[in-house]
Amino acid sequence: MKTAGRISLIKPSPTLTIQAKANALKAAGRDIIAFGAGEPDFDTPQNIKDAAIRAIEAGFTKYTPVGGTDELKDAVIAKLLRDNGLAYKRSEVIISCGAKHALFNIVQVLFEEGDEVLIPSPYWVSYTDIVYLSGAKPVVIKTNAGDGFKLLPSQLEASVTPRTRAIIINYPSNPAGVSYTLEELGALAEVIIKKGIMVISDDIYEKIIYDGQPFHTMASLGEELKRVSLVVNGVSKTYSMTGWRIGYAAGSEEIIAAMTKYQSQNTSNPTSIAQKAAVEALNGPQDGVAAMVQEFQKRRDVIVAGLNAIPGVTCLKPLGAFYVFPDVSSYYGRSFGGKTIAGSAEMATYLLDEANVALVPGGDFGHDDHIRISYATSMEQIEKGVARIREALLKLS
Ligand code: PMP
Ligand code: GLU
Repeated sequence: MKTAGRISLIKPSPTLTIQAKANALKAAGRDIIAFGAGEPDFDTPQNIKDAAIRAIEAGFTKYTPVGGTDELKDAVIAKLLRDNGLAYKRSEVIISCGAKHALFNIVQVLFEEGDEVLIPSPYWVSYTDIVYLSGAKPVVIKTNAGDGFKLLPSQLEASVTPRTRAIIINYPSNPAGVSYTLEELGALAEVIIKKGIMVISDDIYEKIIYDGQPFHTMASLGEELKRVSLVVNGVSKTYSMTGWRIGYAAGSEEIIAAMTKYQSQNTSNPTSIAQKAAVEALNGPQDGVAAMVQEFQKRRDVIVAGLNAIPGVTCLKPLGAFYVFPDVSSYYGRSFGGKTIAGSAEMATYLLDEANVALVPGGDFGHDDHIRISYATSMEQIEKGVARIREALLKLS
């Protein structure tokens, strides 16, 4: 059957594909270490589950307003004020089916053919394809490991053309765990204002940040920045709620109204029950988050040390999120069993076949010298997985 041309512009999400493959192999009895999944391994906290159960029992199981309930919008508004110092009205907030959906809707209502959207790399696998589906062109700005994969103001300035409409920025970042100081953000903000482009800030890892660093979203850098920004966030990572599918965006009334119109013709409202759970997540006790982050930080330290101890592997210490992005390219060109590792895709296949370790090729994030490992798994699995990677790499000749 013929499918529309735009479908050939995109590929299935590589992260979700690897996760599905690892799950299928596990179900078939293989002892797989799952380093592919980008989701916390912790359970959703009980108070959040209870709120959903109460919602079901109270019959809160019908359509809600397209852009989400006032109750959840108010919880988001309170969160943005409390955590980010940002004041929004209900008409400036929309609830969507995950941050991915919010990003998709933003891109659909803002961009079209002829537009360019800047995406610093290494980038989350979905940004480029989301932009392609709008007809616009993703323009990747390649950052360097030597700069800690941080986008430099000079790189940003050099990438803007008359067609540039926006930049999608994500920190703490997936996959490299990049974060920015207030000064670094200020320097990028100056270029953004000077060049008159918009900012789509994906703050999904806001709370998963280490060593006591503060988080500042671009919009909080002043009124001018707030005016051109869309803040995207959600409950998936902070509250271990990936399956509940609740994300949100805040920005100008005009854009939020366009997104609401768009959403009314595709998904309608996000799930009623999940919205009730998200209210509890945002308004309820927050101590579980700190405990989760503390555990992630311990795992980060162990995995970074373990990877850097493998000859020829270099791994930057991530400042946030729950991924590491080591450079394994010194093993490219080597072989095992007659197969040569040409790049990150072959490396990921080799590690899955030979070491039973599932991870994502760096090429999918725009940097083929690297592989992405999610350490949202137990310490025991991390130690075992790193030992297996080490052994497999040292077998290559
Ligand atoms: N942004 C980034 C950078 C991510 O890693 C993810 C992970 N799924 C998302 C957005 C989407 O999150 P969700 O749709 O589950 O809210
Ligand atoms: N964001 C996570 C990841 O990068 C979850 C999967 C996805 O939506 O990409 O693995």
